[in-house]
Amino acid sequence: MEKADYIWIDGKVVGWDDATSHVIGNTLHYGFGVFEGIRCYKTEQGPAVFRLHDHLIRLRNSAKILGFEVPYSVDEMVESTREIIRANGADECYIRPLAYIGEGGMGLAYEDCQVNLLIATWFWGEYVGKGTLERGSRVKTSSYIRHHINTHMSKAKACGNYLLFQMARTDARRDGYDEALLLDANGQVAEGSVEHFFVVRNGVLVTPPLTHLLDGITRDTVIVLAREMGFEVREEAFSRDYVHTAQEAFFVGTGAEVTPVVELDRRPIGDGLRGPVTKQLQDAYFDVVKGRSNSHTDWLTYV
Ligand code: PMP
Repeated sequence: MEKADYIWIDGKVVGWDDATSHVIGNTLHYGFGVFEGIRCYKTEQGPAVFRLHDHLIRLRNSAKILGFEVPYSVDEMVESTREIIRANGADECYIRPLAYIGEGGMGLAYEDCQVNLLIATWFWGEYVGKGTLERGSRVKTSSYIRHHINTHMSKAKACGNYLLFQMARTDARRDGYDEALLLDANGQVAEGSVEHFFVVRNGVLVTPPLTHLLDGITRDTVIVLAREMGFEVREEAFSRDYVHTAQEAFFVGTGAEVTPVVELDRRPIGDGLRGPVTKQLQDAYFDVVKGRSNSHTDWLTYV
């Protein structure tokens, strides 16, 4: 990982190596915190953050679900995000806001602890794996199931929820795959470790409903773009064998962007290459996030 020069913490811009926290803290021990993953892209008009407001609204909502409040408004966090990107002088970066409880209150019940907010940026290239945007990813059905809706609150991007996704992704990669595909408690396809999932069947896009999933910002973006391009998009549950017989499949997410899935459990999807519909959607997505499209310019916040 490439370090940046600075990190924003509670209103101050501090050097990367000085951005430390005490070892006795609720978030470090129990994972009680919420975060976001956002991307800033290089555009002809300078760096632009994609759907920044939507991400920061989701950050505040994640905290609300866990029962605490992020001590900054969306507008304040928008400005702090712009400030740290400018300080780091990046054209293109990944942005990580984290609301955490750094010190005090080691009991499990959250009781008026001090909530801290940091906003870090660093460079993050292709998330699923190097080269996967073009060659596609090889995926393994995970033996871990996506949290039941009443076990972990799936609409919260909460730190502790990521233990499951870390185990699923680590296992898949140790077995030589690029990524994991998790099923839900009913055995239906849920999502990747940090990506929503689509299949293409006879020109129609099908993706699992949001019932037990995070309100995905890339998923929403891709659905809007696909419908504008004339594709039918259906949100409905499906099983893993429906994936084996699809013509194309792909992951979407802030990190993954639009990454083709060309193999599930050693069975090629379609002809095992990035498909034409996936390529069309990738192009449309990158045109919008990189400011090359005249549409949806309101999704970009210039730095
Ligand atoms: N699912 C999970 C569990 C995630 O953490 C993410 C990344 N935030 C996604 C899906 C994709 O969501 P988004 O498009 O909003 O980044």
